[in-house]
Amino acid sequence: MIESVDLVEERGEEMVIAAVRPIRSRRSRCSRCNRRCRGYDAGDGRRRWRTLDLGVTKAFLEADAPRVACPEHGVVVAAVPWARPGARSTRAFEDTCAWLAAHAAFTVVAALLRVSWRTVAGVVTRVVAERAGRTDQLAGLRRIGIDEIAHRRGHRYLTVVVDHETGRLVWAGKGRDQATVRRFFDALGAERAALLTHVSADGAEWIHTVVAERAPEAVLGLDPFHVVAWATKALDEVRRGVWNELRRTGKTDQAASLKGSRWALVKNPEDLTGEQRTTLAGIATTNKALYRGYLLKEQLRAVFAATGENGKQLLAGWLAWARRSRLPAYVKLARTIDKYRPLIFNTLDHHLSNARVEATNTHLRVLTRRAYGFHSPESLIAMAMLTRGGLCPQLPGRTA
Ligand SMILES: [Zn+2]
Repeated sequence: MIESVDLVEERGEEMVIAAVRPIRSRRSRCSRCNRRCRGYDAGDGRRRWRTLDLGVTKAFLEADAPRVACPEHGVVVAAVPWARPGARSTRAFEDTCAWLAAHAAFTVVAALLRVSWRTVAGVVTRVVAERAGRTDQLAGLRRIGIDEIAHRRGHRYLTVVVDHETGRLVWAGKGRDQATVRRFFDALGAERAALLTHVSADGAEWIHTVVAERAPEAVLGLDPFHVVAWATKALDEVRRGVWNELRRTGKTDQAASLKGSRWALVKNPEDLTGEQRTTLAGIATTNKALYRGYLLKEQLRAVFAATGENGKQLLAGWLAWARRSRLPAYVKLARTIDKYRPLIFNTLDHHLSNARVEATNTHLRVLTRRAYGFHSPESLIAMAMLTRGGLCPQLPGRTA
């Protein structure tokens, strides 16, 4: 209920202040449980909540913020229908802010709403916590991927769990060790863990161990995109080696021409530009070793495109070829892949090829670089759940 609306000027800034109060039935409720309680005192008096701008003018709601005595939660500030507990902005403002954070660069959000990144992080955390509390994020899981994501320039890690069927991020936790994976399984519970049919991961033993312990019935496979990423890394090593060798032997022209070749080599052939195709053709004629490395990477990709028995045969051929490739990086990779052969066979047999998990993974990696303002793992997790966990609110006032 609106009592008055005023245009005021404070510290050189014009603002619209709407004095409001909750209708009678919404008054005197606990901000934790929403139960109707006995009034306690007037709290800190009048309080303001930032709401959506009126044209170009900042707008605020202003109301009393009395305290109530809840039998369960003690003396707390009374709930107000227009804002979340503890928030300095209205629900409409926070939902807009969270929606924007999921859809635009943080600099855009901060400039448009005239808030700091810190505020955006706080809003996202609150919005996600509220929405996560309303639904069960872990219901109905059958096929999941478990992975680690580096943040803070690789100094910190999150463990993330993605649903293969939807690509939705269903869980994220601080750290990358057995204890972190156990926390996920604790949240899932033994009954639902028993319903998991497939789990995919990279070569991380700490994931494998806990999966074997908590979901022994589930088939464990390696994520194809991780395995292909290993080959891309090996190819980078070959390329650096070739480049160093060319420079050492005074073939600086050839070395220089290799400098810009990385993308031609690591991109999927179907995504190459005309110029990159020319680069690749040049490497094929002048640099046999590097080209061999390229073909080995592409062949490993083909293994996972084939799946099943075909895939296994291709993998056997690939291992033989890699072992005698005379490229140390690939000889080493062959050993790694041989070690994980049973898990790769699981992937091929159970079609654990996973475009959705990979897309989510790629998104999260981009997010960790984009989300500089989100320093704490908690706010980064909230941001990840907002964008990939299906917890982004709608813009206020729109119907579905
Ligand atoms: Zn309460």
